[in-house]
Amino acid sequence: MDTAVIDALRDALGDAVSTAAPQLDAARADQSGHVSDAPPLAIVTARSTADVQATMRIATAHRVPVVTRGAGTGLAGGAIAGAGEIMLSTLAMNGILEVSAADELAVVQPGIINAHLNRALEEHGLWFAPDPASKAISTVGGNIATNAGGLLCAKYGVTREAVLALEVVRADGSLLSLGHRSVKGVTGLDLTALMIGSEGTLGVIVEATVKLRGIPTGTVATIGAYFDTITEAAAASAAITAARLRPAAMELLDARSLDLIGAYLGVDLAGGAYLLVQTDGAASGDEATAALAIIRSLNGRAELTTDPIEGERMLAVRRSFHPALVATGTVLIEDVAVPRSALPAMFAAIGEIERKSGLQIPTVAHAGDGNLHPNFIFDGPTVPEEVWSAAGELFEAALALGGTLTGEHGVGILKRRWIGAELGAEQLELQRQIKAVFDPLGILNPGKVL
Ligand SMILES: Cc1cc2nc3c(=O)[nH]c(=O)nc-3n(C[C@H](O)[C@H](O)[C@H](O)COP(=O)(O)OP(=O)(O)OC[C@H]3O[C@@H](n4cnc5c(N)ncnc54)[C@H](O)[C@@H]3O)c2cc1C
Repeated sequence: MDTAVIDALRDALGDAVSTAAPQLDAARADQSGHVSDAPPLAIVTARSTADVQATMRIATAHRVPVVTRGAGTGLAGGAIAGAGEIMLSTLAMNGILEVSAADELAVVQPGIINAHLNRALEEHGLWFAPDPASKAISTVGGNIATNAGGLLCAKYGVTREAVLALEVVRADGSLLSLGHRSVKGVTGLDLTALMIGSEGTLGVIVEATVKLRGIPTGTVATIGAYFDTITEAAAASAAITAARLRPAAMELLDARSLDLIGAYLGVDLAGGAYLLVQTDGAASGDEATAALAIIRSLNGRAELTTDPIEGERMLAVRRSFHPALVATGTVLIEDVAVPRSALPAMFAAIGEIERKSGLQIPTVAHAGDGNLHPNFIFDGPTVPEEVWSAAGELFEAALALGGTLTGEHGVGILKRRWIGAELGAEQLELQRQIKAVFDPLGILNPGKVL
C-alpha cells in the first residue's frame, strides 16, 4: 500500500515528491517541541494548485492522511506528520500574483513568508497587518490557517480581519473559491471565516486575497515602564484600554521574565514587571501622553521617547523574551487569552499555580488584547507530566475568567485533550460534523484540533 501511494505520487508529481530520510525526519516536528512517532510516507513540495489537487486526489483514492505545512513554525503540533501520512508543503508556492493599490488588496500564494510580502508592499505604501513574532519565518498560508495574531493586533486586528477571499483545495482534489474582492460581502454562509484558523483540517489553502492597510504615518512614541508588581502593571494596562486609548502595541512582562532577559542581555532589569506601550498614527502623541499619565498615576516608573533608536532599545527588552528562555532549556509556550479587564486576575492565578506546583512560569502578555504566554522551561525534549498538569490548571483558570485555551497558536495536537472543556460536548460534536462535511474520509490532518 505504501509503495502504491508513493508510486502514484511520483507518477503524477515527479520530483516534487521526496522520500529522503532527512526530509522525512524534519517533517516529524514543528516548533511545538512535539515529535511524531515515525516519519511520514513522503513529502510533496507543491509548485502549483494543480500539484495540490493531484496530491489530494491520490490521497482520497488511497485513503491516506495529508498534513499540510507552511514553514513549520507552528507551536501547537498542527503541521507534524507521522506514519502512513503524506506531508504536503506549500512553501514553494510563494508568489505574489497581484497587488491592487486601488482596492488595497493583494492576491498571494500560501507559501509566501509574511515579511517578504510586506517588503514587496512597501513600494506601494501598503502593509499586511497581521504580525506574528514569527513574521520573518512563517507563511501567510500558515498565518491564515492558524488565524495568527501578534503585537499589533489589538489595534490592527488578527489575520481574520485581513482576509477577503480564499482558494481552497478540498479533500477530494476539487477547488473551491470562497469570499470576495469587495470590502463588503454577505452572500451565504461565511466559509472564508470557517477556513481561517482551521489548522489544515478542512482543506488546503492555495491562494489568498488579503486586505491591506496604508503604512501608518505619524511619529511612533514608545513608553517603557517598570512597576513593583505584575498586578499593578496589569491594572495600568487595563486602565489604558478602559480609557479608550488604542496603542499599536502594549506588552507586559513579569518579574521572572525580567530576570531571565536581564541575565540574557547582561543588564540589570530591576523591577517586578515591565509594561511597554507603543502608539502610532495621527493621534500617537496625545495617546502616549495620556497613557504615560495613567501609568504614573498607578505607580509606574516610566520613560517616554519618540526617538526611534531609544524606542528600539525599549522594545529590545520584549524581543529578547523568547531567546532568553530558549537559552536556559526547552520551552513550552502556552497561549491563553482572557478579557482584558481580567488580566490582573489571570496573573494572580498564574502566581497561585506556581506556588502549588513549585514550577516557575515566566509570562509575557499582549496586554492590549488579553493574550498571555505563560512559559514552562524544562530539560530534555519531552514535556514532563507535572508541566502538563500545571498547564491544565492554567487553561481552567483562563476559562473560569471568561477566556480561551488559545489566543493565537491554535489547538493542533497539544491542546486537543482540553478542547471539550471550552467547547462543551454538544458544540464539539457539531464541529466534528462540520469537519466531516469537508473531509468525509477523515484524511485532512487527522488527530489534530477536533
Ligand atoms: C519564535 C516564534 C514566535 C511566534 N510568534 C507567534 C505570534 O506572535 N503569534 C502567532 O499567532 N503565532 C506565533 N508563532 C507560531 C507560528 O509562527 C504561527 O502559528 C504561524 O502562523 C504558523 O505559520 P507556518 O507557515 O509556520 O505554518 P505551519 O507551522 O507550517 O502550520 C501551522 C498550521 O497551519 C496549517 N497550514 C499551514 N499552511 C496551510 C495551508 N496552505 N492550507 C491549510 N492549512 C495550512 C498546518 O496544517 C498547521 O495545522 C510563533 C512561532 C515561533 C517559532
